[in-house]
Amino acid sequence: MANDRSRQLMSRARRVIPGGVDSPVRAFKSVGGTPPFIVSGKGPRITDADGQSYVDYVGSWGPLILGHAHPGVLRAVKAAAAKGTSFGAPTELEIELAERVCKALPSVDCVRFVSSGTEATMSALRLARGATGRRRILKFEGGYHGHADALLVGAGSGVATLGIPGSPGVPREFTRLTVSAPYNDLNAVESAFKRWGDDLACIIVEPVAGNMGCIPPEPGFLSGLREICDRHGSLLIFDEVMTGFRVAWGGAQRRFKVRPDLTCLGKVVGGGLPAAAFGGRRDLMKQMAPDGPIYQAGTLSGNPLAMAAGITTLDELAKPRSYETLEARATQLTEGLTALAADAGVEFTTVTLGGMFGFFFHPGPVRNFEDAKKAHEGRFRRFFHQMLSHGVYLAPSPFEAGFVSLAHRPSEVAETLEAARIAFRSAARVR
Ligand SMILES: *Cc1c(COP(=O)(O)O)cnc(C)c1O
Repeated sequence: MANDRSRQLMSRARRVIPGGVDSPVRAFKSVGGTPPFIVSGKGPRITDADGQSYVDYVGSWGPLILGHAHPGVLRAVKAAAAKGTSFGAPTELEIELAERVCKALPSVDCVRFVSSGTEATMSALRLARGATGRRRILKFEGGYHGHADALLVGAGSGVATLGIPGSPGVPREFTRLTVSAPYNDLNAVESAFKRWGDDLACIIVEPVAGNMGCIPPEPGFLSGLREICDRHGSLLIFDEVMTGFRVAWGGAQRRFKVRPDLTCLGKVVGGGLPAAAFGGRRDLMKQMAPDGPIYQAGTLSGNPLAMAAGITTLDELAKPRSYETLEARATQLTEGLTALAADAGVEFTTVTLGGMFGFFFHPGPVRNFEDAKKAHEGRFRRFFHQMLSHGVYLAPSPFEAGFVSLAHRPSEVAETLEAARIAFRSAARVR
């Protein structure tokens, strides 16, 4: 194997970092093998410690929609850094990014910046509970909203069930107020509301699911959630940490024309630096401290380097045809994959939305987490490793979305499809 250096680094890392990684999915547990240690990235490519280069479809799990080391982002971050890296005091850059976010998302009158998507969803939940005076929340199975206690619930299937903690260290009592339902299932949501409606503060949903593979909302699902929330006086929270500025300018809420009460952003909005946000209706956001009584804070929130990266990223994306280009590139990829899978006689289904795509080793349709779990794991694993050894870096799990950037050209996609031709033939042999 030509990954000697990565393997050495992994054994060194494991001595001082649990599993050698700072976020679990990086460890390749669901596909096996040693993850490449990355030393640099440029445009659509990354290079590992053994000098191997890859066309990258992870993009740091979504933020790098302009590609790696984008010259404009680097310039903005360097300029900000030269003036000081953090003040813990208000800066104009925060206003600049907030104004852009509010303009792009019609449902967002005011926004507060935090440092991670986890913080954004955690804070939005607190606001929803504080504003409604209710305790329960509803999420969807297979929906990921960061690792806050109340949201680490995957449990149940078929009908709405009470939350079972998804991790040791989360007391049962902390998730008892989390109700979960299958994605794309309005009937299950209705039954949950029949039972707990007057105590449900909110529904939190990924408007396009991106953490159980990529699963789009069925027609009427998001507007159905809006209607149920309105009928019961609950708030609708769109967790657009992944989809915001990814599936369209202004996110899934603009693409699907449904207006949430609160929105969580992250990933793209920080342009590759640690920034995330929650925002929404002014009357709700005014209840946050210091205007109101609901507390939330952060030492590095609105960090100038992250604001600078976010501003530059959004300004690039605001240019004409960005999302057409992203979607054309992602479509070239998924249509190519579909054709190659058919040639190889492999059951396969794909989805494309803006700069986000997904694929399952399953004939489809895939509507929810239960369906996603039926995809062929062995074939995914073989396909993944074949692609990696042919210079294509995909997310190392069948339950992740893929991302293209504006730096991906048709030639990189063509190169990817050449690798996929071989990978599908190999995957076809896995029974
Ligand atoms: C990535 C993600 C989060 C968590 O964001 P972090 O910055 O990793 O804490 C929350 N929600 C969704 C939908 C995500 O994709």
